[in-house]
Amino acid sequence: MIAASAGIFLAGCGGSTRQGAETAAKSDTAGSAAAASKAAEQPKGPIMTTLSEFYKMGPGPSSSHTMGPMRITYDFYQRLTKLPEEQLKKATGVKVHLFGSLSATGKGHGTDRASLAGLLGKSPAECPPQFLDDLAKNPDQSYKLTIGPKTLDVTLKDVIFDETKGNFYHPNTMTCKLLAGTETLFELEYYSVGGGFIEWKGYTAPEKGQPKYPFAHASELKKYLIDDQIPLGKLLLENEMAISGKSEKDIMLFLDQVAEVMIRGVETGLTVESVLPGPIKLHSKAAEMQRNLKNSNKGAAGKAITQVASYGFAMGEENARGHIIVTAPTAGSAGIIPAVLKSLRDLNIPIDKIREGFLAAAAIGYLCKHNATLSGAEGGCQAEVGVGSSMGAAMISQALGAHPKVVSNAAESALEAHLGMTCDPVAGYVQVPCIERCAYGAVKSWTAFCIASEENPSVRRVDLDTTISAMALTAKEMNSKYKETSEGGLAVSVVLC
Ligand code: SF4
Repeated sequence: MIAASAGIFLAGCGGSTRQGAETAAKSDTAGSAAAASKAAEQPKGPIMTTLSEFYKMGPGPSSSHTMGPMRITYDFYQRLTKLPEEQLKKATGVKVHLFGSLSATGKGHGTDRASLAGLLGKSPAECPPQFLDDLAKNPDQSYKLTIGPKTLDVTLKDVIFDETKGNFYHPNTMTCKLLAGTETLFELEYYSVGGGFIEWKGYTAPEKGQPKYPFAHASELKKYLIDDQIPLGKLLLENEMAISGKSEKDIMLFLDQVAEVMIRGVETGLTVESVLPGPIKLHSKAAEMQRNLKNSNKGAAGKAITQVASYGFAMGEENARGHIIVTAPTAGSAGIIPAVLKSLRDLNIPIDKIREGFLAAAAIGYLCKHNATLSGAEGGCQAEVGVGSSMGAAMISQALGAHPKVVSNAAESALEAHLGMTCDPVAGYVQVPCIERCAYGAVKSWTAFCIASEENPSVRRVDLDTTISAMALTAKEMNSKYKETSEGGLAVSVVLC
């Protein structure tokens, strides 16, 4: 059961300007500047994002080019299992065609192996890392796909890198086909629309309920917490139930699954040493950091920072390996919340407090998504690692039972520490600077909590809405070279040989 102390969520003078937020784009991981300005003209209603839309599980390193395709083929696999037996008996094979950007850049992102894994019925949330690695290592191996009465042989070659240019409905289009010789028995066209979200031909978005406590800004959230004395965890849970239609039990099960995937990722990352895939030839660090920690003479502060940073490296490296991660808020920043979670687990924080922490973190992510952006392509790294670190600060504060003012101030502090951070991944790979930034992001989550919990929360000068507005404004004015184009900064300064 969620329980949290009611109180003031937002600190500061309360006179926050939303100039930036009002002119900012509606966030979406695949959003463009044009779409952003169009969205900015629309009046926004309350936040309607749900936990399962926000914390998405699947393989890294790209939510649109890896996680989305695996979710698509897993969806197709599930549809196949529901086809009539007579139809299935005729089947001789399956094919997946990748079009547009998925075909152009899919090889480097592992789109083919992720697609094959989903097709083989591996759930994106639960697929073991070894299975994904083996698919990549043995491209000619044949795998058995059993659907009802039929067993088919499928290989990586059944995932076809098709046309890169054409009049596609979406830049990330896929078609999945069940074949009987040259005849198509069943076919569906899918779209990986960004952030791990998927759609298909004829798709209609599921209907949502209205939130019990509608809010679009932290200042509105504050009113519920102060005037009505509603605990933060309770408010967020009741909103989630009202919007998604799910029961409290299902929501808790989902959060526990998210936690399990994150912890598994960190623990795996702490034991594996490898050169990460791609042209950078980046050596992993997490396992070495852990090993060295045992004989460290860095003192309590040095050891604590190394510990948290190694957790961030562990999950960031797992993302680079194409293993299963959780977007929090994105794949590039997916190392931060797992690092925070592991460090809270090290303190034996009870599970109900961890769940509350996840809800508080999601609330910060929702506010940033609604009023600024979560996309490096739209807002630079402040929108990914900055938001992840801010979420981590809220998670720590909430899980440790801090006053809501402290939760908000910690989130503000971490986000403020990342304002202006650019997105310039070397060679377009989510490795440099992304992995190290996850480690820093997690350490800064703790730093922000330490600052916010030691200061007088009522006199903090800058409030959360203001900093989110500042991020939106900075995103809008940031040079496009620093928005995931690999045309500036580190991406053009690091020489690969
Ligand atoms: S540098 Fe870009 S790709 Fe890497 S984590 Fe930051 S926003 Fe994501």
